Amino acid sequence: MAEVKINDLMEKIVSLCKRRGFIYQSSEIYGGINGFWDYGPLGSELKRNVRELWWQAMTRFRDDIVGLDATIIMHPKIWEASGHVSTFADPMSTCKVCKKLIRTDQVWEIINDSEWGRTLSGFFSNGALDEEKLLQWVHHRGHRQVPGLALVKNPNEVVKALKSAIAGNKDLSPQEFFKIIATNPSAYTSLITPCPYCGGELTEPRMFNLMFKTHVGPVADEENVAYLRPETAQAIFAQFKNILETSRQKIPFGICQIGKAFRNEVTPRNFTFRSREFEQMELEFFIRPDEVVEKLAGKVAKWSEGADVSQPQPDWGWEMWHRHWVEERVKWYESIGLSRDTFELYWQQKEELAHYARACVDIQFKFPFGTQELEGIAARGDFDLTQHQKFSGKSMEYFDEEAKARYVPHVVEPSAGVDRLVLALICNAYSEDEVPDESGKLEQRVVMRFHPRVAPIKVGVFPLLKNKPQLVQKAKEVREMLRPYMSVFYDEAGAIGRRYRRQDEAGTPFGVTIDFDTLGETNSLKDTVTVRDRDTLKQDRVKIDELVHYLMERIK
Ligand code: ATP
Repeated sequence: MAEVKINDLMEKIVSLCKRRGFIYQSSEIYGGINGFWDYGPLGSELKRNVRELWWQAMTRFRDDIVGLDATIIMHPKIWEASGHVSTFADPMSTCKVCKKLIRTDQVWEIINDSEWGRTLSGFFSNGALDEEKLLQWVHHRGHRQVPGLALVKNPNEVVKALKSAIAGNKDLSPQEFFKIIATNPSAYTSLITPCPYCGGELTEPRMFNLMFKTHVGPVADEENVAYLRPETAQAIFAQFKNILETSRQKIPFGICQIGKAFRNEVTPRNFTFRSREFEQMELEFFIRPDEVVEKLAGKVAKWSEGADVSQPQPDWGWEMWHRHWVEERVKWYESIGLSRDTFELYWQQKEELAHYARACVDIQFKFPFGTQELEGIAARGDFDLTQHQKFSGKSMEYFDEEAKARYVPHVVEPSAGVDRLVLALICNAYSEDEVPDESGKLEQRVVMRFHPRVAPIKVGVFPLLKNKPQLVQKAKEVREMLRPYMSVFYDEAGAIGRRYRRQDEAGTPFGVTIDFDTLGETNSLKDTVTVRDRDTLKQDRVKIDELVHYLMERIK
């Protein structure tokens, strides 16, 4: 069966992730389980850093946001109120030949990414067909890669149909091309969409609810149905009143949460990008409805190009708050090493928005497999709290002392995925270059250029030689000194250049080497170490006494 291939860079990244212990397939010894991934020693540190930095930025560096850590399984009514039971569904088709399930709206994307799709597109370009190559491909690779394709089963007839379609329509689109080669001219009245995996015919789409169902307690009946949460946000709405009462926050304020979410995705793909179990970092930032802002401030500020959205103002309504959060989130991504040119902001069109949403921006990262969503920032009005008020019968209103008004707060929601961000950081960090080895000869290295803030290991500590007990002892003392402050990796095995190279691949920004000068061979250098910078390869001589400060300045 043809396996869909991601591009070469992605292959290198996936293989490095496994080789260096960033990410493994879950349950690999049993053949893996599709859509589930485990984070190894380096990956789990990287992920922890991401969570920690988000949490710090949201809570510790601000007065107006507090945290929540809610359960994964909640009362099923929550998901009725939120709309997930009735509408959280994707269209799904089944291949009549290979029986694979495919998200109908992703079929063309998967075909475009597949090896056979890319090959055949190359034979049909600018409306012209390379018939000879097409037929050669059918006989050589077509049979193995896409055995269900009508072109493969019945090449002469299909090529004839294709040629007459091209002759009759100069602007035949790539999708029409693929539909024609998927359809057996004698057996169908309308064109079919091919299965991206075998070329067979797909069924009409059916809606498929993405929530994982389970039962609470020993009896598995409809009464006890519960769901694994498909997002963390709803717990925030459900606990809104408790938090309001216990935290003494006043609107505008936010509640944030990091935690697991589960979606039974029809086609998990692109490595960890679309998984069935993943983690989210979500903020619900509660604001005054625009009418209340207007009553208090006399007007509601309107956004225009170049407007300053950095410092909240009393006349901000949902639009300015939304812009503010887009900017805050972009700045945060920059602070962890994703420069602005690595992502794009996609403003959803009116017709794409959920019925209750006023605006939604996707922060999209340029992954090697395409520019795709990292985070969505939505202005959701008062939809969620109002729904929970209706379904629970409990008031979600807030009494605004300043405005002397009672209302259901509105909300702006920045919602990010930890796993997608970790993948973006890995893709962004991956690079290959050439560095001189000990003898000055250039050699290839793979280097993960993580920002020091997110790097899984901050510093490698190396005694120059393993068989010199004084060097080893001193290096271990340095390791112990650094440990309370940062993640340290101690390595004494092999040539120093090899040890540097191993840390380059792990993305460790600094390497500290303890050599004979450290021990006092050159008197003026006693109790100093060299600190090698992963990116510039520059080596600084630093006093051991000043090492913690030196490193902390660079990783904080
Ligand atoms: P998509 O359109 O890609 O399915 P979405 O718009 O449904 O995503 P949201 O419901 O807005 O996603 O979820 C917020 C964030 O959670 C996303 O931006 C993404 O980072 C993360 N996320 C959502 N689904 C998945 C998944 N299946 N695997 C990994 N992360 C996910």
